[in-house]
This record gives sequence, C-alpha cells and structure tokens, in this order.
Amino acid sequence: MAEKCDVLILGAGAAGMMCAIRAGQRGRSVIILDHAKAPGEKIRISGGGRCNFTNIHAGPKNYLSANPHFAKSALARYTPRDFIALVEKHRIAWHEKTLGQLFCDDSAKDIIRMLLGEMQAVNVKLRLETAISDVAHDGGRFRVTTSGGLIEAESLVVATGAKSIPKMGATGFAYQIAEQFGLSLIETRPGLVPLTLDPAALERLSPLAGVAVPAEVSHGKTAFNEALLFTHRGLSGPSILQISSYWREGDVIRLKLEPARDILALLKEAKQKNGRQSAQTALAEILPKRLAQHVVEKSGLTGNLADMSDKALATLANEVQDWQIKPAGSEGYRTAEVTLGGVDTTGLDSRSMAAKSVAGLYFIGECVDVTGWLGGYNFQWAWASGQAAGEFA
Ligand SMILES: Cc1cc2nc3c(=O)[nH]c(=O)nc-3n(C[C@H](O)[C@H](O)[C@H](O)COP(=O)(O)OP(=O)(O)OC[C@H]3O[C@@H](n4cnc5c(N)ncnc54)[C@H](O)[C@@H]3O)c2cc1C
Repeated sequence: MAEKCDVLILGAGAAGMMCAIRAGQRGRSVIILDHAKAPGEKIRISGGGRCNFTNIHAGPKNYLSANPHFAKSALARYTPRDFIALVEKHRIAWHEKTLGQLFCDDSAKDIIRMLLGEMQAVNVKLRLETAISDVAHDGGRFRVTTSGGLIEAESLVVATGAKSIPKMGATGFAYQIAEQFGLSLIETRPGLVPLTLDPAALERLSPLAGVAVPAEVSHGKTAFNEALLFTHRGLSGPSILQISSYWREGDVIRLKLEPARDILALLKEAKQKNGRQSAQTALAEILPKRLAQHVVEKSGLTGNLADMSDKALATLANEVQDWQIKPAGSEGYRTAEVTLGGVDTTGLDSRSMAAKSVAGLYFIGECVDVTGWLGGYNFQWAWASGQAAGEFA
C-alpha cells in the first residue's frame, strides 16, 4: 500500500524546508524526505557555522541565469525582510557583517531549528536517510519509490540541490528528474570557487601563499571589490569566488590591488619625503611585505626612489593595480559553494516554479538555473523559490 500525501518534497535543504512550511500552512499534507542523516546540512556549515542567511540588498541583479528576469517574481514576493521577520519571530539574534550580509549571532543551527519548528507546527512529515529509487507519474499522481516504501502525491517538488560538495551528499539527482520529464538543462559548472594557476605561475606566486589584500577583481565589465587571498593552489578570497562565477576557461581576469589607494601618488609622496628609501620599503608601507617584494622583483625596478623617474614609479604602481592573470581552472565541485546552470528556467513558471509541461511538478533552490553572488544571496533564492512553490504545490 502506498502512503499518500498532497505534496511530496525531495530534499530537506533550505528550499525544500521552506516549501514544506508554506504548503503545510495552506493545509496541504506534506512529506519531505532526504537521503542524509540530518536536514539542512549546508545550512549548518554555511557562513563559517553562523549562516549568512540573507542579504538585505538581494535583487535580480545579484543572480546569474540564462534568463535574468526569471528570479524577479519569486524574489519580489518573498524578500529579505520577510525572512528577517521569521528569524525575529524565533528570537534568533543576528547582525550585519558587511555589504548587507546577515549572519546569526550564535549558530547556523538556530536557523535549522527554526525551520524544523515551523514544519512541525503544520504537521510536515520529515523522513531522513531515505533513498529514492524511482519517480513515476501516471498523468494524475506521482509515485515515488523510496527505501521507506512507495509514496503517492499530487504534487512533487524537487529540491535536491546541485552538485557542489559531493562529500556532503550533493547529487545531480534533480537534473535526472528534469530530463526524465522532458525539461531541458543549462550546462552546469562550479561557482563561487577558488581559481587555480598553471605550475609556472604558481611557482612565481608561491611566496605569496597566505597573503590577503583588498582588491577589485574584474572579468569584462563585471567587477567585485572585496578581499583577495593568494593560496598554495592559486587565488581565493571573496573577490575571487565572486568573479569565478563569471570566469570561463581561457579567460583573463584583472586584479587591482588596494583599489581605494592611489599608489602612484603615494609613491611620489614617499619619494619626496625620503628619496633614499628603496621602492620595496616604500611599497611595504602600502602593501603586505611579501607582496611588495614580489611586485618590485616582477617590475625589475629595484633601487632607491630618488633614482626613479615618475614613469618608473607609474610602472610600479601599474604592477600593483593592473595585474592580468589567466587562471588555469577552478578547484571544482569539491570546494565550490554553488553550481551554476541547472534546470532551464524556460520550462518553469516564474510565479510558482512549476514545470510548464507536467502538472504538479516543481523545481526549487539551487537545482534551478539561478545562482546568486556570495553573501547570503543563495539562501535568499532558496527561501524565495521554496516559498513560491509552497504557495501553489
Ligand atoms: C560550504 C558552503 C557554505 C555556504 N554558505 C552560504 C551562505 O552563508 N549563504 C548563502 O546564501 N549560501 C551559502 N551557500 C550556498 C547554499 O548552501 C545553497 O545555495 C543552498 O543550500 C541551496 O539550497 P537547496 O535547498 O537548493 O539545496 P541544499 O541545501 O543542498 O539541499 C538539498 C538537499 O537534498 C538532499 N539530496 C540531494 N540528493 C538527494 C537524493 N538523490 N535523494 C534524497 N535527497 C537528496 C541533500 O542531502 C540536501 O539535504 C553555501 C554553500 C556551501 C557548500
């Protein structure tokens, strides 16, 4: 005998749980299942354990998608303010860290407890450690075969996330279901991921591993002004993670280090004040020491400031503020925070996240071809798309 419910949600992550709450509030009987031992594992580890649960500036401009308009409806109908109200209802203390990024004061687990509490309040049934072996649709109802038995549902919501961090149980399952029901996919690739360098560049930059510096990192017309970190494998830090979502194999990225400072003016001032100091000493007042040394060696302009022409100083300043780097690749899904691409939005209704071609089938969260910037935008998409589907499923 199959167990019956109105709404079956596959994946008890951020989007799935949000959808379960809304559907339950509408009086729908809801089952949510997950193959993991615990719900919301990515919430738990997010934001260094404090969950950057939203961004007060979140809007369609902060998302990448083959159709940049798709996310507008869901994001407008469930805003960061709405999620903050939920967080405050549960008396979870929060703070803005930087750039509109909101974090729990205490622990990401508070967000998971909040979602579980809301699900319980509307009698959502949560099934963990449950594997899915088959999804069928007889034209009316969905029949899902699981390790816990057969479940029949009127609506099926796919919220199994994407490929990032396979070690945590991430799968491409949602894509498989999308293909099974004839929906198309946008090619997937890792996003918000450190970039790697070829062995020669890595050797040149290896003395800088561990150095962090403010930077404007750009790819074409897209630029992010946040910290950059040199690592043993290449480049990381928020500015690099952000640009990685725009970067494609073979492309060059530009690094403007210490973008808020006029390096040339500072070098000229240093020359005037104390011309006997070396360029490296002067630069070390502006940049981390190892970086100053690297820049001077790269420019070949050693010697005292007094012996350097304005043109030479300009060359030095350029070495700091106009680096062009061609990354060799990225660290891949192993460390990527998100997956770009996914279920093609042309097959989905932007109000409800429903598949246009299959009544009762929904896709939400990261499996959809909507990917946010770093800084709470991805959870906001999970909440908003989950809420949108929960309204209709
Ligand atoms: C290390 C890290 C830190 C992050 N920090 C932040 C942050 O601070 N702020 C932010 O906005 N975003 C952050 N993100 C991104 C954010 O976690 C995701 O965008 C978000 O979790 C996506 O929600 P989702 O519900 O679509 O998918 P998920 O949260 O990944 O949930 C999918 C669920 O489906 C389950 N599942 C998968 N396949 C199957 C299957 N075959 N059968 C059954 N169950 C299955 C999984 O176990 C999982 O519980 C971070 C990501 C990572 C990896």
